[in-house]
Amino acid sequence: MTVTPEAVDHVTAPDVDVVVVGAGLSGLTAARRLHQLGLRVAVFEASSRVGGRVSSTTVEGVHVDLGGTFVGPGQDRIIALADEVGVRRFPTYAAGENVIRWRGQHRRYRGTVPPMGANLLDVGRIQLSLDRLARSVPRGNPAAAPRAAELDADSLGSWLRRSRASTTARDLIAIASRTTWGCEPDEVSLLHALHYIHQAGGLSSMLDTEGGAQEEHFVEGSHEIARRIAADLGEAVRLNAPVQRVETTEGGVLVSAGDERVAAGAVVVAVPPALRSRIAFAPALPAVHAQMSQRWPAGVLSKAYAVYETPFWRERDLSGQGLSDTGPVFITFDASPPERGGPGVLLGFVGGVYAREWDALPAEERRVRVLSSFADLFGARALDATGFIDQRWGAEPWAGGGPTAAPGPGVVVPYAGALAAPVGRVIWAGTETADRWTGFMDGAVRAGERAALQARGFVASSSQDHTRTGASA
Ligand SMILES: Cc1cc2nc3c(=O)[nH]c(=O)nc-3n(C[C@H](O)[C@H](O)[C@H](O)COP(=O)(O)OP(=O)(O)OC[C@H]3O[C@@H](n4cnc5c(N)ncnc54)[C@H](O)[C@@H]3O)c2cc1C
Repeated sequence: MTVTPEAVDHVTAPDVDVVVVGAGLSGLTAARRLHQLGLRVAVFEASSRVGGRVSSTTVEGVHVDLGGTFVGPGQDRIIALADEVGVRRFPTYAAGENVIRWRGQHRRYRGTVPPMGANLLDVGRIQLSLDRLARSVPRGNPAAAPRAAELDADSLGSWLRRSRASTTARDLIAIASRTTWGCEPDEVSLLHALHYIHQAGGLSSMLDTEGGAQEEHFVEGSHEIARRIAADLGEAVRLNAPVQRVETTEGGVLVSAGDERVAAGAVVVAVPPALRSRIAFAPALPAVHAQMSQRWPAGVLSKAYAVYETPFWRERDLSGQGLSDTGPVFITFDASPPERGGPGVLLGFVGGVYAREWDALPAEERRVRVLSSFADLFGARALDATGFIDQRWGAEPWAGGGPTAAPGPGVVVPYAGALAAPVGRVIWAGTETADRWTGFMDGAVRAGERAALQARGFVASSSQDHTRTGASA
């Protein structure tokens, strides 16, 4: 049942138990868990597809993930969810040597950290210092860290300079920063970076392929998880339905998307922090919530895939993993399908400072520059791609960037508390609200599961307060 605007100033007979705003992995997980608890849900999704920051397509018949892709040890909730809906995993190809193009030189190496001569010791020192500092930041409550305000006032970049990190160490951390937050080290709060590193189990766990967050990816693609959950929810999921208004009334909430207005016991808002401000809340949210939304912008991370007849780099005992200090592509992976003997696929990331320039180029120029980056790393055969696709997340109206929020210096201590704290019947989800693996698909699932339990609490209490009559799904 849809309620006309004049009909309601209090909710006694909700249309559904919980409305979920946003059909990314977090919102879909919340909806699935609520449905499994026997509650009635409606999911409003602004765009024409589900998945949000996970999205997939095919190039030359080969499946590619345009957004979130990799999973690794400790990411138990996304893995459990994928298993639940029958989406399979396979190891990221990591056999052979990695390559790095650095200061005009080309080298092969094994492991995550490239050999940098005397600088290698300094890279190790910086990594140890960051990991040690990160452990001092409590998971889920960065503002409670010792010297939190001081750490927050710093950027990751200024800390690196103060720590007298070598240029090589600074450049390598810049690569990690672009991949992780979609921004340069000077743009992200040191406290946020440390909190993020702690939640992800340390820098190695965050950056490694074997044994780390890039260890596996999904055979059917990460987007298939979202698609299958949405298929199970059926008509409960409404596409092309951007929520404009959430009104808390006596005994419930009214959620409006276009002409539709749905009454519920609670609402789970599962959109990135910066997009919360596009929704009008009545009564207005406490100021700290509205201010947080303006101060937690998304980073910028884009992706490009080139398809080849074969994974030709493997013939030279190369893993397809590469690092470069020139750009636009600064890090690569082998994203070929699991079957041996099939086509080869190289994935390149363009983020931070590189994305700002490259994202604005015409499609053909973007292709030329990416293939040229691949050729710098893997030789001239990389120019002979049979297929190519890229995805610029900064141009996605309902993502605003990626991979996750990148708060600048000074905004974590005053505003992080507003990320996940419910405001009455308004409950928050989304990967940025997670207390483990925030920013990752796993964080999105964890946050969705936590939000479902919070919402159930509200619905259970309102069913004691109100006798519902004539409620319909
Ligand atoms: C390029 C890139 C690479 C990444 N790589 C990885 C990786 O390898 N591994 C990993 O774990 N993670 C990765 N991530 C991050 C991961 O994709 C995200 O953490 C996760 O998908 C976020 O899910 P979410 O549900 O929290 O948010 P979202 O996916 O952003 O979902 C929010 C949804 O809300 C909708 N919405 C917004 N406003 C409204 C509104 N007003 N009304 C209704 N709907 C609205 C949006 O359209 C969207 O569908 C990557 C992300 C990007 C962009």
